[in-house]
Amino acid sequence: MPLKADVTSADLKSIRESALGAADPLGIAADLAEAAEAGRLADPDDAGQALTLAAEIAESRSKLDAALRYASRAVEAYGDRSDGDVVNAKAVRARILFRAGRADEAMAEVEPLRPQLTEYPDAAAYVSAALAAGGQLKVAEEWLTEALRSALASRGEPAEPEGVLFFLLQQRHRVRHALGLQHDQHDNLAEKLETRLANATARAAEAPGDDLLFFPKPEFEAALAKWPALAPAYGADWDEHRAHLERELVRLAGTGRAGLTLLPATVAGLTAFAGGDGDATDPKIRAGYAERIAGGTGQIAWPPERNGACWCGSGLKYKKCCLPRSR
Ligand SMILES: [Zn+2]
Ligand SMILES: [Zn+2]
Repeated sequence: MPLKADVTSADLKSIRESALGAADPLGIAADLAEAAEAGRLADPDDAGQALTLAAEIAESRSKLDAALRYASRAVEAYGDRSDGDVVNAKAVRARILFRAGRADEAMAEVEPLRPQLTEYPDAAAYVSAALAAGGQLKVAEEWLTEALRSALASRGEPAEPEGVLFFLLQQRHRVRHALGLQHDQHDNLAEKLETRLANATARAAEAPGDDLLFFPKPEFEAALAKWPALAPAYGADWDEHRAHLERELVRLAGTGRAGLTLLPATVAGLTAFAGGDGDATDPKIRAGYAERIAGGTGQIAWPPERNGACWCGSGLKYKKCCLPRSR
């Protein structure tokens, strides 16, 4: 099935999730590359991502020539940009070169990515995967250790399983297991944080909190007027409220939660739920209210498409409204 006219960022995401099981993944890869080059992407900035995805699909089917062509075009499409996506594209290109037996070129591609390991959360996984494809796990261990030490020195131990440091710890832990190395103190820390993440994910799955209650603008103002004590939990103003939510959703998505939704709340609804003697400022009451909304209809799916209407109802495009609030 050919791709539709305007391929959006959300389409890319769902293609990433479904292409490998599709009947004709190579056709999808070719269509993606074609859409990127013919300017049929809703957001032209997505060209590098579309081509990287095409490369990964072709690589998964061992079509290394096509994969390398797509990956090279992805790197070109990014031009002078420098961010995590570019690192991923280059690491994918290096991985394909390793698989194709072109180890020297692969090393030349992946070596300059070394300083990026402390900059971008995904870099550790992509760079390790490239080195692993070339049988260079020892090199991966050395690079990850160096990056981890420098990140720990400048930022201190992470308290939560998130961010660059956690991904470095986690990736290094995996690589060291693959090498059959004994746990060191960093592996112990990695395991502690991984356990905490697994527990938090399990808890979140069984008991939704009040974290995703969303008060649309007029409701937010009315809620704070009625219960000023809610400001620390939901934000001092509506911008802060939306920023809290966007960041929380990004964080949850990062832990692997799928099907995230915002739970639209109203003052009348919360008042009714709390009942005569219930106190809406009690987090347990709000969690119960959130659970009630989560069990009904009318939740707001997140994330919207980059160019789609923002989830907050402002009428602006997501990429111009709440998407940047998480940064
Ligand atoms: Zn372990
Ligand atoms: Zn918004």
